[in-house]
Amino acid sequence: MIRQYELVELVKTYDPGADEDSLNRAYVFAMKAHGSQSRASGDPYFSHPLGVAEILARMKLDSASIITGLLHDTVEDTDATLDDIEQLFGPEVSRLVDGVTKLTRIELQSDHTRHAENFRKLVLAMSNDIRVLLVKLADRLHNMQTLHHIENPEKRKRIAAETMEIYAPLAERMGMQRLKDELEDLSFREVNGDAYQSIVTRLEFLRKEGVDRTRRVIDELNTVLKEGGIEAAITGREKAPYSIWRKMQRKNVEFEQLSDIMAFRIVVDSVPHCYQALGLLHAHYSMVPGRFKDYISTPKPNDYRSLHTCLIGPERQRIEVQIRTVEMHDIAEYGVAAHWVYKQDERNVEGRQYRWLRELLDILDHASGPEEFLEHTKLEMFQDQVFCFTPKGDLIALPRGATPVDFAYAVHSQVGDTCVGAKLNGRIVPLSSVLNNGDQVEIVTSKAQTPSPTWERFVVTGRARSRIRRFVRQQQRGQYIELGRAMLEREFRHENYDFTLKGIDGVLKKFKADDADDLFAAVGAGLHGAREVLSSVYPAAKNKRKPEGVVSLLAHRRKKQKSAHAIPITGLIPGMAVHFAGCCHPLPGDRIVGIVTTGKGVTIHTIDCDTLESFAETPERWLDVGWERSDDGNQPHVGRLHVVLSNEPGSLGNLSTIIGKAEGNISNLKITNRSTDFFEMLVDVEVRDVRHLTEIMAALRAAPSINSVERARG
Ligand code: MN
Repeated sequence: MIRQYELVELVKTYDPGADEDSLNRAYVFAMKAHGSQSRASGDPYFSHPLGVAEILARMKLDSASIITGLLHDTVEDTDATLDDIEQLFGPEVSRLVDGVTKLTRIELQSDHTRHAENFRKLVLAMSNDIRVLLVKLADRLHNMQTLHHIENPEKRKRIAAETMEIYAPLAERMGMQRLKDELEDLSFREVNGDAYQSIVTRLEFLRKEGVDRTRRVIDELNTVLKEGGIEAAITGREKAPYSIWRKMQRKNVEFEQLSDIMAFRIVVDSVPHCYQALGLLHAHYSMVPGRFKDYISTPKPNDYRSLHTCLIGPERQRIEVQIRTVEMHDIAEYGVAAHWVYKQDERNVEGRQYRWLRELLDILDHASGPEEFLEHTKLEMFQDQVFCFTPKGDLIALPRGATPVDFAYAVHSQVGDTCVGAKLNGRIVPLSSVLNNGDQVEIVTSKAQTPSPTWERFVVTGRARSRIRRFVRQQQRGQYIELGRAMLEREFRHENYDFTLKGIDGVLKKFKADDADDLFAAVGAGLHGAREVLSSVYPAAKNKRKPEGVVSLLAHRRKKQKSAHAIPITGLIPGMAVHFAGCCHPLPGDRIVGIVTTGKGVTIHTIDCDTLESFAETPERWLDVGWERSDDGNQPHVGRLHVVLSNEPGSLGNLSTIIGKAEGNISNLKITNRSTDFFEMLVDVEVRDVRHLTEIMAALRAAPSINSVERARG
């Protein structure tokens, strides 16, 4: 057990301005608070917070973190309160202790590590100050170091598995290699004791054999570098048992050679010297192809920087070499913690506080590559989520603002559909209550319950919303069927036709309806007019009134509008049906050709339409056509544009404003592709002629949020 003055001295070695008085007071406070409590080992309980504080001091953390380490279990396990801590040590420390306490409570609540991924996110979400997480990791490390004192083997295994799945990955993501290795090895020993032992034994054997050789390798590397004018500290580092084990599993190999267990590390004083050292080594030894990595120019997402290479080195030994500066080395070992130490040039406490967070975010920003842990690294992201427990301890992740109804639907849609009430941490609450991180949620269900439309007002998850809507729609459908049927009966009666199910059945296909109810519902919902149905069942009814097509009312109206004007095309056989190709949307002014299509009349394409290639073999189908000079210039034609827009607020609005100002009318929009940066879309615009469209395109091209505009061809 480290003594009081030793701890203070240790802190002062790297932080001469440390708050000595508070450190001393925290030491005494925690010792008194834990009093006669003891640990599984029989040691006084206080040895644990003290051990945690020592680990934090070895990471060279600030006084507040170390004081938090000393106090971290007092609120949960003793009579001390957060108020006491705030009074004695100030708001910063009390906030940190509060954070660690909350994490501890959640840890106690969750027996299941099935949802390790969510749990890691939860831990991140709750650590709004990175120091909370560092204290928690140190706490876990100390508990792992003393794990063997716990008698219950199942409990030991559970704690070890949790460490492996949750805390080691968190340490890695924060770039704390040494902490990660230690947590993994301690867990590995517990979870897979046999494998651990066999690796350790083998390591000992190789180590004895290799001592001299390691020495000779280091000496020779040193000489090579010195002759090239580079001063370096070279060490041989034994790889951690768990990482050897992982490598054996991954590559399915045995480890036999020194090179499998040793890595050599060359620490120099500047970045240029890193590359010079690398050059000297590569000039002197052959390098093993495919193993060189430059993490200096491209750091890893957790900010790890170093040069890696593999050489056929001294004595024809294959060796792995890492080259880095002192600073890179410390960052590799201590991760975020080292960053803080390196960049604290001001002594201003408040400035320090913010720099911590800023730097963390900087570091985490580096993860914005397609790296697998990207989504787990961004602290901020998890501030948008809440994590709650089922009564069994399963963890459910939900968006912030989620309610018990969202929770119920996340568990199972059946649970959602039948939920009548909820208990939050044992207390009954309204279904619209907002959930908080760490809440335990129990849903009360009743078979008689059905989703209520009012739930839609407060749920936030898409899943809950769509289930509720679906239910509401089903209920509405009943009403629509009634209504549609009544409308049809009236329409038929009004026109003196018999309304029979047989007649309706005959036209179901035409309306794409599965059965009569389906058609009634569509009529009731206004998708089809009663009149359309009547004229389909009794085509004679059609003749009595205006001629009508089927389809929807909207399309029907358009068609009518168009047929009021003559089609302005010359060169056609009279009476032949004409329509414009949907692939190229020809406009007056475009050079066009007609293609005779059996049963369809003539289709007009632009002369440069890609589709025309497929008619190259059948020249007899081509018709030479042109636009009729018409004084009716108001007839709209549809031009189709392919537009690439920046994916940013307002760009779509911009697009429609520009088109509107230029007197074009957007008749259809379709997004064909969508990425983080861009939207690609097809925009159909009603214009007078090709010149009109060209004007619109020019205006669009001038807009900054629009990346490219061209006419869609084929
Ligand atoms: Mn603890």
